[in-house]
Amino acid sequence: MSTIPGLERPAPVPNELTQPFWDACNERRLVLQNCTACDRLHYPPAARCNKCGSGESFEWKEVEGKGHIDVFMVIRDSRIRGFRSAQPINFAVITLDEDPGINFLSNLPGTPPGEVPPGAPVELIFEETNTGQLVHEWQVVS
Ligand SMILES: [Zn+2]
Repeated sequence: MSTIPGLERPAPVPNELTQPFWDACNERRLVLQNCTACDRLHYPPAARCNKCGSGESFEWKEVEGKGHIDVFMVIRDSRIRGFRSAQPINFAVITLDEDPGINFLSNLPGTPPGEVPPGAPVELIFEETNTGQLVHEWQVVS
């Protein structure tokens, strides 16, 4: 279940490209595509490397799951289904420490809306969606 009251996390629908990513989430691991041709991590999953264009050289690589808050805002009036009953809600951009070029979006479970320490370190957690699929989330390190 979501640890944010009222929030309904949409369940992802895995496809051929994203299945390994979501399978790893269910094992509480975060894996990203790494292009072995140019040694570059990718998120979200892509069919081709956006640097060298290779579609043959991806391998899945587990990352440590530590990051920092790049920027955040508080959503108060979203029309997005699933957000409406949880508002106000944090909405943050996370940069991955292992590769600051990789960004994730997060609602920062456990941190009251607006009470987000600027630039705070965050760590990977997993939350359950209504299908039982786990999804990656980020929590401020206290
Ligand atoms: Zn590449």
